[in-house]
Amino acid sequence: MELTSNLFSILDEMEHEQVVHCFDKETGLRAIIAIHNTVLGPSLGGTRVWKYSNEADALQDVLRLSRGMTFKSSISGINLGGGKAVILADDNVKRDERYWRKYGEFVNSLGGRYITAEDVGTSTKEIEYIFKETKHVAGKPFHLGGSGDPSPFTAYGVYVSMKASWKKLTGNDSLSGVKVAVQGTGHVGQFLIEHLMSEQAIVSIADINQANLELVTSKYSTIQVVAPNDIATSDVDVYSPCALGATLNASSIPLLKCKVVCGAANNQLKDEVVDGDAIMQRGILYAPDFLINAGGVINCYIEATGEYSKEKTMHFIEPIYDKVIEIFNKSEKDHINPQLAAMAIAKDRIKQAKSKSMAN
Ligand code: NAD
Repeated sequence: MELTSNLFSILDEMEHEQVVHCFDKETGLRAIIAIHNTVLGPSLGGTRVWKYSNEADALQDVLRLSRGMTFKSSISGINLGGGKAVILADDNVKRDERYWRKYGEFVNSLGGRYITAEDVGTSTKEIEYIFKETKHVAGKPFHLGGSGDPSPFTAYGVYVSMKASWKKLTGNDSLSGVKVAVQGTGHVGQFLIEHLMSEQAIVSIADINQANLELVTSKYSTIQVVAPNDIATSDVDVYSPCALGATLNASSIPLLKCKVVCGAANNQLKDEVVDGDAIMQRGILYAPDFLINAGGVINCYIEATGEYSKEKTMHFIEPIYDKVIEIFNKSEKDHINPQLAAMAIAKDRIKQAKSKSMAN
């Protein structure tokens, strides 16, 4: 898709409200913030740092990610809209405190329509710098009154979703002896592996980051390491994409050997209709990404309400198990793939909220 010269028609098609390009010559900051939908509340989504091959790829990523955040918050029953930011990483630019504070100024200029948090490439350290310039931040470190890294909550949601998917498939939700291939051993992947190992699943992993792999294998000597290019198509029961998006596409789907796909990565399906249908036709259960990886945004939401407690977060995360089974049942009944089934539920909540606010 030709994004840069055709932006308004893309925004029309994807139904975005606002896209902001942030540029600062002095620090070298180049960022894009996309606000997809604010019907349910202010948009919230992390800031991703990535070395994109070109600006169009960065724009496409932020548009897809922010749209996914809208569905994620909606289906989770929290009062947030969808937004996301990407930072175009550049080896010649130092991302120091000054850089992050400049980015914080841009977030602040949106007056709370966008609340930022961690994503790939950002941690509580960067959040702390951003927070010096704006209060529209979640996932703050504990010493600043925040709830810390949201990844353990994301990982827990993925873990219970994997159990629910296995239950749907076999009638039993124990993952003991189940072979799980985890792609990406970063923040979420590591916490997910902890849950899987404590339930005696048979785990294999892949990562392009050697240090992360070593961190995991030094803790669990029985875990098998697989080459990054082979993990998605390895002979396992469950493939768990916990790295980047679009790993489920026309090339990989025909080669999948798993029975279930259930992972933390956002936008796992390159195309939610074509690839979602292709997985379903192969008889593989695909657990919708934005539903099962919502633990992090839920935790950020509870923090943003100003009355944080872990119990409140878990109150929204535990039901993910039943929602996953509900979506698989809806998918069967309506003959649509699970991603589309989940999107229908998410869109319906927004539609109802919109008609309610128009009636008032
Ligand atoms: P992270 O950056 O900490 O970890 C990602 C890991 O994937 C890294 O170790 C990286 O080296 C690895 N990786 C990248 N490309 C790879 C490849 N081709 N093959 C194998 N490994 C590769 O990120 P994270 O916070 O763990 O998030 C992982 C995914 O989950 C992302 O897609 C993110 O958007 C999504 N997600 C994260 C959260 C959260 O709470 N952190 C919440 C929702 C969704």
